[in-house]
Amino acid sequence: MYHLKGKVALVTGAAGAQGLGRAIALRLAQEGADLVVNDLSEVSGSRPRLPAVVREIEALGRRALPVYADVAEAKQVDAMVAAATAEFGRIDILVNNAGAPAGPDRVPVVELEEEAFDLIQRVNLKGTFLCSRAVARHMIARGGGGRIINISSTAGKHGVAKFAAYCASKFAVRGFTQSLALELAPQQITVNAICPGLIATERIDDMAAALAPPGVDASEQRRSMITNTLASVPLGRMTETSDVANMAAFLASDQAAFITGSSPTVDGGLHMD
Ligand code: NAD
Repeated sequence: MYHLKGKVALVTGAAGAQGLGRAIALRLAQEGADLVVNDLSEVSGSRPRLPAVVREIEALGRRALPVYADVAEAKQVDAMVAAATAEFGRIDILVNNAGAPAGPDRVPVVELEEEAFDLIQRVNLKGTFLCSRAVARHMIARGGGGRIINISSTAGKHGVAKFAAYCASKFAVRGFTQSLALELAPQQITVNAICPGLIATERIDDMAAALAPPGVDASEQRRSMITNTLASVPLGRMTETSDVANMAAFLASDQAAFITGSSPTVDGGLHMD
């Protein structure tokens, strides 16, 4: 539908089995794009890592290159972009999806430790900056044209108690998106930020564990977060990764060539701008 055949996309934070990055990578592959998929090193954490995502992309008949890199380390990011262009010759689409896990940052500001605040900004904001800078340099050098899609959040449009570090990072991603969109418009490179509502990825397990009050276990907290969201969403269900992946595929396409600096919300009508 969106005809991305011949395009190459780089998606960061793409290893989670239920994650948004994997869903976006597969959706772009379904549209015909070849993929560079990124995440932290293969041995970190217990979640299934990039090889499974690579196999899924290849099963769709597309090529996939896994690159392990920390998006908040400039040297690793620059090496990732160099590896991607060495393999495919170009990057047409960048999706800045990697996000720090929800954890000790989900507390009131008066209890928020500096390290917890810094980690969220480091991955969500600095990672978006470094990947955008490296890929934009490449896109400009090869004569312009391209798509940068940042994953913000509805928490990048509305403050949420105990989410101050996360909200700060996701509001900042939207500001960064608008500035970069203005800078890159002369080169016909569009820059947009998608703002999803709560999605039941692995991340919300971490979030539930961090937010559970004393005496409430994480699974009970997770259930109540989902029940509360379901009760409030006008369209009557949770946001699915596919809803966000569809928006990413559209923004990556030629049909979205005249849309830049925007921050579409994908949350079933829970938050209206
Ligand atoms: P997730 O935790 O499953 O995915 C994030 C991925 O980023 C993980 O695979 C993780 O290993 C990777 N990552 C973390 N630090 C990294 C680093 N320094 N370098 C490279 N990779 C790194 O979470 P998700 O729910 O799939 O979230 C994806 C994005 O969507 C995040 O930016 C998140 O803030 C955003 N988002 C999620 C929700 C939700 O409810 N799940 C809602 C709105 C926005």
